[in-house]
Amino acid sequence: MQSGILINGQWQARSNGVPDINPSDTRDVIEEYSWASAQDAKAAAEAAREALPGWAAVLPEARALPLRRIGDELLARAEELAQVMAREQGKTVREALAEVRRSGETFHYFAGETVRNHGIFTQGLRSGFNICVSREPVGAIAVITPWNLPMSIPAWKIAPALAYGNTVVYKPSELTPGCAWALADIIHRSGLPAGVFNMVMGNGRELGKPLIDLTDAVTFTGSNPTGVAIVSAAAGQMKKVQAELGGKSGLVIDRTANMDLAVEVAFQGAYYGTGQRCTASSRIIVLESVREEFTERLLKRMKSSRVGHALDAATEIGPVVDERQLAKDCEYIDIARNEGAELLSGGERIELTTPGYYLQPALFLTKSNDLRINKEEVFGPVATVTTAHDLEEAIAMANDVHFALSSGIVTNDLIAAEEFRRKSKAAMVTINAPTAGLDFHVPFGGRSPSGYGSREQGLAAQEFYTEYKSSYTNVSGRL
Ligand code: NAD
Repeated sequence: MQSGILINGQWQARSNGVPDINPSDTRDVIEEYSWASAQDAKAAAEAAREALPGWAAVLPEARALPLRRIGDELLARAEELAQVMAREQGKTVREALAEVRRSGETFHYFAGETVRNHGIFTQGLRSGFNICVSREPVGAIAVITPWNLPMSIPAWKIAPALAYGNTVVYKPSELTPGCAWALADIIHRSGLPAGVFNMVMGNGRELGKPLIDLTDAVTFTGSNPTGVAIVSAAAGQMKKVQAELGGKSGLVIDRTANMDLAVEVAFQGAYYGTGQRCTASSRIIVLESVREEFTERLLKRMKSSRVGHALDAATEIGPVVDERQLAKDCEYIDIARNEGAELLSGGERIELTTPGYYLQPALFLTKSNDLRINKEEVFGPVATVTTAHDLEEAIAMANDVHFALSSGIVTNDLIAAEEFRRKSKAAMVTINAPTAGLDFHVPFGGRSPSGYGSREQGLAAQEFYTEYKSSYTNVSGRL
């Protein structure tokens, strides 16, 4: 059994053990991890607060060193860690490898940020005064993360938190303890002072309150209901809080689209990661004149795709993460059927040689954007195709949803692309590429209600992980 609790530089031994199950083969119990109690969460938050003044005072160049080492080790062990991720979470090894590499690069990027973040010094704004604007760490930060990107989301929160001089208590998802443990082990051995990075695995509802109450700020990625609970609790104490939440992305296939590209963008956008991505394009909106051709070709692409064991190199779509998510996917497939959507392909649970949570990707044809299947986040391999008469209607349909995270268009018409980019209410837009947050150099996140607080990644990360201080020094010697 592995400890899931790292406090003040020490792994804590506990007797409880929660199994980590392989979704591609439920007979495979990968490991057991001990879970933290509320008391452990309190101790971890206290350790992070105690370590704060020391870490905040470390020179930026020295803060960069452990971050570089973490990035180096993630990149050097990427193949091995990708296997850990694929086995535990169910995404394909190819996708897992890209995620581990991106996590390593994120640590490198923020290692560079430590030395770039000098604050701003201004002279001459006021006669006789030097005015200085500096950026300071926020404090001890609770990092609460989901299971679908079990390394890159923690990386894009922990790396900037540490880079800007904050300390961390990391609360990973219950479903991906192996990735959390591997990342925490690397961070633990990177040379950070004790207490700068702490981890508590365990039940979110139990650990959430002490974490929110005893840290200075909370960064969260996960579902909207959990996000609302966390934001309310943190904001109620006037604490800084950031939440990245759900999505229901629309992908428009324009009449000028290259059909080969359109089919691949739609297929990958809807089903890669088994559709378990906040930016998954689960609503495909097709211009009437190309609907038949597009749908026919997408169905062909779906038939040739392979659902399978995540560690099998031939697999394109792995299993759903667990029984609960599978039940939710199946419930939405029933909801869609009952509200009159036409099932064009898939949607049934399938049995392979290993017992796992396998679902044949589902594609529905819907006549209206108003169905629940077009409004609510499923977070599985379930997508719809709906027809629009013209671009204007397609853009209106893409925007006609509660969420505002990402959207996309496939088109060869520059003017249509630009019109879509301007009019989309989503915070992230892709043109001729699957809907996704692609690059850690640029801001990532959604507008309300897909996101709350400032954006993540790139320079935008400074907004959450630092506080401004403006100081005025009278250098004239008189008033
Ligand atoms: P979830 O909300 O169930 O859990 C996320 C985390 O919150 C877990 O670590 C969980 O233990 C913890 N948690 C649960 N209740 C809590 C509470 N009361 N207090 C504190 N912590 C609590 O989400 P999930 O099922 O792990 O992830 C799927 C969701 O994440 C989807 O809705 C998806 O769209 C969203 N997501 C969003 C983004 C984004 O950047 N916008 C990225 C990935 C996933």
